[in-house]
Amino acid sequence: MSNLEVLHRLVIGPLVVLVKHDPDLEEDGEWDASDHVIRLRRRKDPLTILHEALHAISDLYGLQLSEGRVRVLEMTLGDLLERNGWLGKALASQGGPREPQEAPKPGVDGPKRADRGG
Ligand SMILES: [Zn+2]
Repeated sequence: MSNLEVLHRLVIGPLVVLVKHDPDLEEDGEWDASDHVIRLRRRKDPLTILHEALHAISDLYGLQLSEGRVRVLEMTLGDLLERNGWLGKALASQGGPREPQEAPKPGVDGPKRADRGG
């Protein structure tokens, strides 16, 4: 298992997730939350990478998305990026690498604001 070929490195929030090729996988892809790895059955399968990345985001940010919701997001985001290639390029060219963002704790909607007392 540990000798799988690394195909990509995905930065997701505070993590660098390795995408590895596993030709013996029964499904198209798999997000392994225990060692933060995505496994792919086929080498070239960007939609499955997107799908598994959504599972990773759901885990990391405590969203608890169902399989059905992950599929809807996979299809709609995949379609959005496929039909609007400029959007991904524009985001990628925005000021170079950013600091990885801390994953908020599950159940917390956003950073707490200081009470202004007024
Ligand atoms: Zn899934």
